[in-house]
Amino acid sequence: MSKGTAPIEKNETYHVTFHDLTHDGAGVAKVEGFPIFVAGALPGETGVIKVVKVKKGYAFGRLVELQQESEYRVESACPIYKQCGGCQLQHMSYEGQLQAKHKQVVEVLARIGQLQDVNVHPVLGMDEPWRYRNKAQVPVGEREGGLVAGFYQQRSHDIINMEECLIQEQINDDLVQGAKKICELNGVRAYDEERHRGNLRHIMVRYGQMTGEAMVVLVTRENKLPNQEKIIEEIRKISPNIKSIVQNVNNKKTNVIMGDVTKVLWGEEYIYDYIGDIKFAISARSFYQVNPKQTKVLYEQALNYAELNGSETVIDAYCGIGTISLFLAQRAKRVYGVEIVPEAISDAKRNAKINGMENVDFAVGEAEKVIPWWYAQGIRADVLVVDPPRKGCDDALLQTIIEMKPKRVVYVSCNPATLARDLRVLEDGGFKTIEVQPVDMFPHTTHVECVAQIILKV
Ligand code: SAH
Repeated sequence: MSKGTAPIEKNETYHVTFHDLTHDGAGVAKVEGFPIFVAGALPGETGVIKVVKVKKGYAFGRLVELQQESEYRVESACPIYKQCGGCQLQHMSYEGQLQAKHKQVVEVLARIGQLQDVNVHPVLGMDEPWRYRNKAQVPVGEREGGLVAGFYQQRSHDIINMEECLIQEQINDDLVQGAKKICELNGVRAYDEERHRGNLRHIMVRYGQMTGEAMVVLVTRENKLPNQEKIIEEIRKISPNIKSIVQNVNNKKTNVIMGDVTKVLWGEEYIYDYIGDIKFAISARSFYQVNPKQTKVLYEQALNYAELNGSETVIDAYCGIGTISLFLAQRAKRVYGVEIVPEAISDAKRNAKINGMENVDFAVGEAEKVIPWWYAQGIRADVLVVDPPRKGCDDALLQTIIEMKPKRVVYVSCNPATLARDLRVLEDGGFKTIEVQPVDMFPHTTHVECVAQIILKV
């Protein structure tokens, strides 16, 4: 349908019924079949909207008046929910969120993957879906001479101060607030992005939920931190859980948070945490899952789907710091992990070592190049696990899987759309998708993770 024939007009108001949610959490209504996306509206609701933008084939509207409310509508718990944008579903009850995520997975598998008959289990949610994040990373600015730390106002670079974030560990809020105050009292100026002046850019904190160990990272433009000794002494007093205080220097004009130089100001270079029985070393710059409780749920399901008896050779593609590889290595003969980021592979090797695991090999490189090479060397996986980024698996990798014919493929996905696309390729190449388990790793946001079990058809 072209713009000229859209059945609606900009600035006009319409009475509509919402029947769906988009992937970013907006309500979807239709006027004569023409979809309109309206932030803040929920499926099942009716109301009056004003059209603010008409595009080819769809439009955006603003909610003017809500008439019939959804049974899942709740008051958002966070006072800055609308300004922040970090969460998208706080106006929906947690039960409603889990149902919406399930529906999304079922629909996307059917639409993109033509997988109508796959068993998609109910989403595994959290018993306590608040304060789950183990890492906070907040930009610092100045207002009226004082420091502010929080989040960028949407579509701008102004920093809004945030006293607390309800999806963050409590200790992370305390450490961010404390460190901000201490830096302010000790004459640290905030970084000014426009003029590339000032010093403190970000405060980052990480917390090991199983060990109770915390790390504070001050990301600065300059190498020098005024009153460094005093700042360290004061930060240490905030909490006995602090095991590490680190400065990272980033003197570039960039949106990338961390720079290349990291200095331990006090304590250890690493803090530790556990996922299941496996111990992980976490440095200021390491990748580490932000919700380890649900990561454990997701990866245990991956391990179940792998159905290992100890005799298998397993490949873990897109292995990151080796979380899944080490889970699998507990029950397999040998595990090969491949990952593109060299630092992640160094962490993976360190993690294998601190857990005394010797049946894992890690390689740096693109999964779609390294796995065909392994295959050419005669390595045959009985089970292949993939956990790709949002864009899904490279086609060359899928073709190698089809040639290699592992008995089982376990697909961990953070994007149901690319999961569905890749499952279709595997189905056409001789595999069958048995079931899919969605897991809620990021309550109150629109993200949904899935793990799928796929078997070779005989
Ligand atoms: N299972 C991992 C996380 C996977 S996230 C863990 O628990 O740590 C996806 C990973 O894929 C990221 O670490 C990213 O760096 C990596 N990656 C992206 N493209 C890749 C490619 N072409 N080949 C291998 N790894 C890739």
